[in-house]
Amino acid sequence: MKLVRRLANLGYGSRKQVEAMLRDGRVTNAADVPFNPEAQPEHEAIRVDGEPLDPPPGAVLMLHKPTGYTCATADPGRVVYELLPPRFRQRNPIVAPVGRLDRDTTGLLLLTDDGVLLHRIISPKARIPKVYEATLAQDLAGNEAELFAAGTLMLRSEKTPLEPAALEVLGPRRARLTLTEGRYHQVRRMFAAAGNRVETLHRATVGGLALGDLAEGKWRLLDPAEVASVF
Ligand code: URA
Repeated sequence: MKLVRRLANLGYGSRKQVEAMLRDGRVTNAADVPFNPEAQPEHEAIRVDGEPLDPPPGAVLMLHKPTGYTCATADPGRVVYELLPPRFRQRNPIVAPVGRLDRDTTGLLLLTDDGVLLHRIISPKARIPKVYEATLAQDLAGNEAELFAAGTLMLRSEKTPLEPAALEVLGPRRARLTLTEGRYHQVRRMFAAAGNRVETLHRATVGGLALGDLAEGKWRLLDPAEVASVF
């Protein structure tokens, strides 16, 4: 693919803007020698304004999402893209959240520009376990584990019952819940169905992938072995 289109797809600007960047000698190799527009260099060889390029197509990253950010591209409030390099929102294909976390949920959010991978992860057939930690407004009643494990719980306006989910009690008002599906506001609605209310919600893992020491508000690229650990 031509350099102009490659850089435009990575969000560096419109084709016209990237053409101007090339004319101005801002797109160079590591030795600061400008590329001409016909060149087909390796991704790793390209610098823009002296900086290595953003990750190539097929990037997968994890973000430790703080509260107060939505997973939308545009929103009157804050969006997760504000925590990423600005170009990630301009890429074609866009770096998109893999499923959604609510504005007030914290924790592990995957993002990728690989649409096939995204659909593989969110597909209900994949049944990828996701672990959530919830703090609750009231003490657990004691019957929640049984209720959630039954595979018969119907949430309002849903057509099918929820898949069985595993609940581990961490304290009188704290629980860990493992889901293998991702319905709208699922954890909050499950506890509401059990007569309780979620006060804080954190996603700790997606498949075999955990946040590790990634600080809140920070993101990092995943390597292929980490991506494979999701499945
Ligand atoms: N369930 C919820 O209720 N909210 C989330 O953000 C994720 C799962």
